[in-house]
Amino acid sequence: MSAKRFEEAVAAFCAALGPERVTRDGAELEQANTATFATKALAPAILKPANREQVATCLRIASYHQVPVYPVSTGRNWGYGSRVAPHSGCVLLSLAALQSIQAFDALTGRVRVEPGVTFQQLHAFLRECGAAFQPPHTGSGQHTSIVGNILERGVGKGLYEDMAAHVHACEAILPNGTTLHTNADAAGPALFGLLPQNNLAVVVEVTLQLQAAPRLSQILSFAVPGGTTDVLPTLRHLQSVNQRQAPRLQLAFLNDYRVATQVTQFPHATHDPHMAVPRPWLQTCMQAWDGAPWIGACTLWADDEDELAWRRHALTSALGPLGLTPQMEPAQDNTLMTLDDDGLRCAYWRKTFAMPSTPDLDRDRCGVIWIAPIASIAAPQWQTLLLELESTTLAHGLEPAMALRCAPTGSVRLILGLFFDRDLDGADQRALQCQSALLTVLRRCGVNHYRHTLLDGAPNLDPGVHAVVASLKNHFDPHGVLAPRRYFQP
Ligand SMILES: Cc1cc2nc3c(=O)[nH]c(=O)nc-3n(C[C@H](O)[C@H](O)[C@H](O)COP(=O)(O)OP(=O)(O)OC[C@H]3O[C@@H](n4cnc5c(N)ncnc54)[C@H](O)[C@@H]3O)c2cc1C
Repeated sequence: MSAKRFEEAVAAFCAALGPERVTRDGAELEQANTATFATKALAPAILKPANREQVATCLRIASYHQVPVYPVSTGRNWGYGSRVAPHSGCVLLSLAALQSIQAFDALTGRVRVEPGVTFQQLHAFLRECGAAFQPPHTGSGQHTSIVGNILERGVGKGLYEDMAAHVHACEAILPNGTTLHTNADAAGPALFGLLPQNNLAVVVEVTLQLQAAPRLSQILSFAVPGGTTDVLPTLRHLQSVNQRQAPRLQLAFLNDYRVATQVTQFPHATHDPHMAVPRPWLQTCMQAWDGAPWIGACTLWADDEDELAWRRHALTSALGPLGLTPQMEPAQDNTLMTLDDDGLRCAYWRKTFAMPSTPDLDRDRCGVIWIAPIASIAAPQWQTLLLELESTTLAHGLEPAMALRCAPTGSVRLILGLFFDRDLDGADQRALQCQSALLTVLRRCGVNHYRHTLLDGAPNLDPGVHAVVASLKNHFDPHGVLAPRRYFQP
């Protein structure tokens, strides 16, 4: 892209949005070019449209001048690349200012949200209305975007697992100015599926189908004494309970490293930060489970005590033959649920200070890279995969913090977090080497990962899928201006 063409495009953006909505330098741009791992790409400007008409105008200008743009909602895609685009020269298109909850239908539980609406905003709104619906949330804190999370095929906590599966309708603007409305009730192809992890269009509104809020919730946990070799057999043994009781029973497995990163901080006073903490040190964090290397954690939801007792019974009966007895936290009034940023504590595990009250992982130079493989619960390579990922991570001086999430569909997601301190000498480079070695393990085991970081490049698509996506891109985005190479490599 020539400097002249870029300057002409910036002049057009300023004329359309007002210069105050176009940032070209300063701390804000520096922050936007920072992720939770080392990146090279630099955005030359940030556009901050105030409404969807301005979004459409930005796309028209970008297409006309052939200037690439990278859309983000709140831009907190931490561990996957934050707001950083796949290559330099992409102008950041921030949709954070589109933050209105357009409508809520208390009968159906459908809510229309713009890209800047955060999980916290929707939570507060539903509480204020006294709505009988449960707001979604994730581990990435209160101030991330519902739409951004959906478009990355994010995983929700509680009653929301596959966030994109809860979309009823949406409005999106294609780079050539076409507006696309999708609606699950309309006859014809269900086109919403083309939008997540594709960057075919900029989504300006999503209608989310909320889940009815159960009155009670309860957490049960149990030790998996045999550790990494026992975790998959245990999970398979519980699959029938998981399938029959979802979504009011949610099962996850966490290893000792993952628990430690969540509940404490790296022991800087006694341990070398270039090494992983030794396993015996972790035992103190796992005392409640007799020092077991893995635990199962199960959340139950119910409308009354009888239903809760029935769900508890289903789980404890399934655990009985394995000789496992769950510990039970007291049942909670689920209607009093609050959102917090506790899920972000693991990102501060390696820092020399505790998580501040307003966490910002890019600003605080927290190192995070996620590896997110997915495979059938029946896949024979799970055990080899877990053991190899564990040993490879340890060999790079990092803790293999792993969590397994069991979807009722029969697939299991592994979420492996590499947490490091970007301020420690050599840590960035070591983490990148580790990430690359872990991807080699995935390839060797023949396992896909369901969510790509900027480091991974675009996914390798099936040839038929590639041909379809290429035709759509050529038609709607002939100059390839929307997030080039993030999810699609021509
Ligand atoms: C400790 C920790 C815990 C986390 N826990 C979770 C978790 O439980 N579940 C989970 O899913 N993630 C989790 N994350 C990852 C991430 O932080 C979240 O997924 C977060 O919601 C993504 O950021 P965002 O909502 O600001 O999306 P954005 O960064 O705004 O968007 C993500 C990507 O989607 C695309 N996109 C966004 N908006 C649009 C749009 N309107 N139109 C077109 N394309 C768009 C862009 O390519 C963008 O890069 C976690 C991260 C950390 C560090």
